Amino acid sequence: MKTITIVSGKGGTGKTSIVSSFASLASPTALADCDVDAADLHLVLHPQIKKSNPFSGAKVAEIDMDKCLSCDLCRNLCRFDAIDIVNMSYKVDHIACEGCGVCVWFCPEQAIEMVDEPSGEWYISETSYGPMVHAKLGIAAENSGRLVTIVRNFARGIAETRDMEYMFVDGSPGIGCPVIASITGVDFALIVTEPTLSGQHDMERISELTAHFNIPTRVCINKWDINVEITKKIEEWGERTGNKIIGKVRFDNIVTESMVQGLPVVEYSKNGVSEDIELLWSNLQEELK
Ligand code: SF4
Ligand code: SF4
Repeated sequence: MKTITIVSGKGGTGKTSIVSSFASLASPTALADCDVDAADLHLVLHPQIKKSNPFSGAKVAEIDMDKCLSCDLCRNLCRFDAIDIVNMSYKVDHIACEGCGVCVWFCPEQAIEMVDEPSGEWYISETSYGPMVHAKLGIAAENSGRLVTIVRNFARGIAETRDMEYMFVDGSPGIGCPVIASITGVDFALIVTEPTLSGQHDMERISELTAHFNIPTRVCINKWDINVEITKKIEEWGERTGNKIIGKVRFDNIVTESMVQGLPVVEYSKNGVSEDIELLWSNLQEELK
């Protein structure tokens, strides 16, 4: 099985329209939506959730009032002002608690313990294109890198069990911990970029990251015709650095329309854009051989 992560330096480069089209073109295939902070692949692929699982990214303190003798030590020691007295009881504000564990260590009555704080859910689902693992992270919840690893590993497990030929990972944007988790151990990375100065900059940064992890990387220029000059520069950069450009997808409002209609663009319309994506997929298959 080949695992391909589709990444971009930032959100909004058209990554989801490419991944959903690949799902349609390579069906049946396995899918992992590792963009857990802003998941949107489900809006196009309409997964039927088969199993929901809780995710806890952090631990917080909790006080057992049956043991507490109200000595006030924990409240004085907490540097984050996370402990307060509410209705004569000591309570921890789970949003303010940073999980440092100081209160647990110093409580003379062992009345405090660290507990898992629910911060999201992840799902094992079925789509009409194959199995999909995806997640929903709570607002400002932490440890999305760990959640990405769970999503990626489960999708891989399902894909291997079902003997699938490909697995597509919709990677997290940026170059931080979540994107590292979404490219770890994959066979191939496809960077989706757009011809803008920030797009070019983000693409170069993420290519350094994939090079660092020795992941063969290719590039697709989405909306290439909105700035032909920068597209040319990206092509020159690709030749210079060995990051081959294997596809260029033209700009067309039909892509947004297809997303609004909740369909992969290659299914929504048969026109220039869908032909560009089909050619990209065929070039990618050649590269994977
Ligand atoms: S340190 Fe322990 S005993 Fe003292 S107030 Fe806090 S929880 Fe209660
Ligand atoms: S774990 Fe740290 S931050 Fe949380 S309540 Fe205890 S002392 Fe405060």
